[in-house]
Amino acid sequence: MPLLRIENLHTYYGHVHALKGIDLEVEEGEIVTLIGANGAGKSTTLRTISGLVRPREGRIEFGGQVINHVPAHKIVQMGVCHVPEGRRIFTTLTVMENLMMGAYTLKDEKTIRENLQRVFDLFPRLAERKNQLGGTLSGGEQQMLTIGRALMSRPRLLLLDEPSLGLAPMLVKAIFETIREINARGTTILLVEQNARAALKIAHRAYVLETGRVVLSGPAQELMRDERVRKAYLGER
Ligand code: ATP
Repeated sequence: MPLLRIENLHTYYGHVHALKGIDLEVEEGEIVTLIGANGAGKSTTLRTISGLVRPREGRIEFGGQVINHVPAHKIVQMGVCHVPEGRRIFTTLTVMENLMMGAYTLKDEKTIRENLQRVFDLFPRLAERKNQLGGTLSGGEQQMLTIGRALMSRPRLLLLDEPSLGLAPMLVKAIFETIREINARGTTILLVEQNARAALKIAHRAYVLETGRVVLSGPAQELMRDERVRKAYLGER
């Protein structure tokens, strides 16, 4: 049984039919990436999974349970954590306080301490700066903080929306390496990216979205060799 199974998902914003029957699966332990042009429906897919918008039709199953109608905060408690596009940290709170916000679903002190240690192992920079205000961090550090905060709840499934957006090339590389590392340590990841090349490099499988539909899917390595993908998304002629 896949960890996440989506069938025939239709999502609307008013009259805008953003998702037109998406089918998608994520197995436990995978990195799956969604690639596609602006407006293809990538972010909407993540928002629909995490319960921020509701599908009009179709079915979302997580860990064998249908979650279409489960409130967003309950979906978080079930182990789905969504890192939306843009580095939305609390600028007037410290790094530590920001991280603790991510642990709000947890009560056990020991678990919180363990999770914090895991985040600091992954991002030593955040440990060094734990008392610094979020707003004074660099762009790359803020991105680490948003991801670190999401990991504080130890999600089973991490939904990442454009984690590399707006970062300098060196930091982009570091973020993708980190995503691979998070996955290697046991978190399943659904990754939305404009940077198709980098996403396909670290992903096990990929789905290509065009105007609300899946037009191609398969092992990431295969899609990387696919002529349509190379022309449309990897900038080749
Ligand atoms: P991008 O990378 O540009 O964010 P995307 O693939 O993530 O692209 P979505 O943001 O999911 O695309 O948008 C899918 C469609 O839904 C687009 O046509 C977009 O204009 C529309 N849309 C997205 N959000 C809203 C909204 N809040 N209200 C109305 N339409 C929306």
